[in-house]
Amino acid sequence: MKTKTNYNLGELAQILNAKLIGDKEQTIEEYYFDTRTIVCPTNGLFITLKGLQKSGAYYLDEAYQKGIRSFLVSSIPAQPKDGANYLLVQDVLVALQMLAKHHRQRFTLPLFGITGSNGKTVVKEWLYQLLWNEYNIARSPKSYNSQLGVPFSVLLIDEHNDLGIFEAGVSQPNEMQALRCILQPTTAILTNIGSAHLENFLDRRSLALEKIQLLEAAQEIIYPADDELIEELISSNPVFDSKRRITFGKSDKATVQLKQYQTINGQSSIDIEISGVLFNIIIPFTDQASIQNALICCASIYSLNKNLNDYKSKFEKLLPIEMRLEIKEAINNSILINDAFNSDLISLKNALDTLAQQSRERKVLVLTDILQSKLADKELYQKTAELVNPYHFTEIVLIGEKISAYKKLFKSYVRAYATTADFIAQLRQENVDHEVILLKGSRKFELEKISEQLEKRTHDTVLEINLENLRHNIQTYRSLLKPSTKLMCMVKANSYGTGSFEIANALQQLNVDYLGVAIADEGKELRKAGILTPIVVMNPEQHSYSTVINYALEPEIYTVRVLKLFLQKLQEKQISEPYPIHLKIETGMNRLGFKPEQLDEIIALLKSTNLVYVRSIFSHLATADMPEEQDFVRQQIAVFNKSYDYFVEQMAYRPIKHVLNSPGIVAYPEHQYDMVRLGIGMYGYSEYKDFMNRLKPTVQFKTVISQINEIEAGESVSYGRRYQAKRHARIATLPVGYADGIRRTLGNGNSKVNIHGHLATVVGTICMDMMMVDVTDIDCKEGDEVIIFGENPSLSQYANWLQTIPYEVLTSISTRVQRIYYKE
Ligand SMILES: *Cc1c(COP(=O)(O)O)cnc(C)c1O
Repeated sequence: MKTKTNYNLGELAQILNAKLIGDKEQTIEEYYFDTRTIVCPTNGLFITLKGLQKSGAYYLDEAYQKGIRSFLVSSIPAQPKDGANYLLVQDVLVALQMLAKHHRQRFTLPLFGITGSNGKTVVKEWLYQLLWNEYNIARSPKSYNSQLGVPFSVLLIDEHNDLGIFEAGVSQPNEMQALRCILQPTTAILTNIGSAHLENFLDRRSLALEKIQLLEAAQEIIYPADDELIEELISSNPVFDSKRRITFGKSDKATVQLKQYQTINGQSSIDIEISGVLFNIIIPFTDQASIQNALICCASIYSLNKNLNDYKSKFEKLLPIEMRLEIKEAINNSILINDAFNSDLISLKNALDTLAQQSRERKVLVLTDILQSKLADKELYQKTAELVNPYHFTEIVLIGEKISAYKKLFKSYVRAYATTADFIAQLRQENVDHEVILLKGSRKFELEKISEQLEKRTHDTVLEINLENLRHNIQTYRSLLKPSTKLMCMVKANSYGTGSFEIANALQQLNVDYLGVAIADEGKELRKAGILTPIVVMNPEQHSYSTVINYALEPEIYTVRVLKLFLQKLQEKQISEPYPIHLKIETGMNRLGFKPEQLDEIIALLKSTNLVYVRSIFSHLATADMPEEQDFVRQQIAVFNKSYDYFVEQMAYRPIKHVLNSPGIVAYPEHQYDMVRLGIGMYGYSEYKDFMNRLKPTVQFKTVISQINEIEAGESVSYGRRYQAKRHARIATLPVGYADGIRRTLGNGNSKVNIHGHLATVVGTICMDMMMVDVTDIDCKEGDEVIIFGENPSLSQYANWLQTIPYEVLTSISTRVQRIYYKE
């Protein structure tokens, strides 16, 4: 049974008041705005928007190559494409919003619209976790809450849904208007109004007024009772008089009142009063934000006229949303994507999209019964198979009796097992080879047992890399650049120690223009793993020219001698096309590069051959991170400019010109020229502290407590007895030492680690594989998590303890520490 939620192009043209060039009968079932996620092109409509770096036409070409034949555009390409259909509108984003609004109006379902400065995604996901078995819920994927994300999310509503939960975010004035028209919430939730990141808003009041517009559109509103500004704005506006108002907070005026809470053993026990009735819930979190978010969920449940007591056990099992998906290196050159925290169709789709971005030929899916859905089994697994089949898995493993019964719907080589243990019993590690494996399922199936068998290493000490924060940091740097400025990301030394392939792959997904490596072998590894982005080798050693050419890497040329040798190699290899090279000008670093006075010699050589052409000319700043050395920077830049101009005059073409590294982008954006080279900034570090506040830490080094010892005053710890307890003390041993890259100078009180938000001092001498910390005053137990650096202590704090710089810290963490990559 499929009632009609899809549109054909003729109908879309009518709804959007668009001109249609093409087939009006063509049905549209999927909407794409990102070419990387295209999997079912046949009935897909590509929303052709201009990107930050590239034009709409560029993405249209890419989408066409991926098989898309229908496009929403604001101009028709100059070169018509075979068999393509175009919906021509004035403004593509506005048209998409119009469509979403129309789509929303076709359904009468109750809909929560959530706005606020923090907690939108958590509240949305938690409400889903609390309510999935009572409603067929449509909700925003990930944190889709923008002008583009909201319409895209709303288009996912179909006739099965009987509740919607959507986020709405604003980053500039006048954005909520469009979102409220699209969402038409029946209940609007305002989580809070922050004051820290006002960004494009004048003050807190104007930000609040913008967000409150969402509430004006709803019949029922949920908002904080403890915020005077919000209370004032709402009670002074007659629009709200007729609405049902539910407030939450500590104030005794709050409808849903937080009476008190206690935190014990990683849980919070929260007492809540609603209309004189007391309730108690327990959540597995202890931080303030989680308590607040839980309170908002209680208010939402109350708004549905439900009894909180019926949700107690679900509150106890709430999952953190940032723990959703992890990407790990697995045995035999494979990659493991582990998403075994929740199981529903939206999160399955997200996981499948992450998998599609991994360039491995063999793709394996391990999928369990889907528990968080209210659909009847037949329909549920039909939909599941429809989602999964277009990804063309090499192999699918189904676990669970329900999904196994629908084995025939899946079009791959399928094996089915009743339990995870049955599957593991026949799993042979040697059969896993160069593949990407997605583990997707519900917690109950304990897919982590499969993950344990497939993970490359099982050391408790890991370096976590948050790919979402990496993306955030890159966007933050991009915001300092003109749209036309190209971006090179430096991935030398295994991306500053964070891992080569995964970081390069993430950067390729982000459409960076260039990758920079130090030596040819690093470039070769990236090419072998399927990275296609242009790669510059900064320090090509002379025995590596063959590798450079064989793997289409682009060398930096820094002396006449190197140029001659490289030309000789090109000749030997009989390369016919001119080969791209990059000239490095020495302007003050006195490391590698041509002195300006050597330019004539190079230019003469270049004029005498057509084996190479200069794709870029660059130099490197010695003091971009030192405000007191601005004069030196300007002197370097003057020399660089002069050399560049001279080259252009002599050769009559303009290579890409670039000079800025991460600190340079922040301090000298006026010298961004055609490209910049971003390195350490990707990891959330900058010498410019104000700017650093806008970045997020990408790397977290962590471990666990192996053992806790109680010692008496006078007893000593570790080699050399350098620590002696002055009182009865609890000492935790951590499975990490100098062989992992923790330098010995950090021992004996010289650094701290973070356990449950408290700092514990490192005591005694650091050993090869272990170190000890004093946890006398910290409530913790064996097995608990320990942060060596991340948010607090930060990478720069840790570098300070070592009297070095974050660059050296990151590149010194040894290879036995597993790198784990998180998305979202
Ligand atoms: C490493 C490197 C960079 C990046 O420097 P950051 O300070 O990490 O931004 C830029 N350019 C060159 C030539 C480099 O070697």
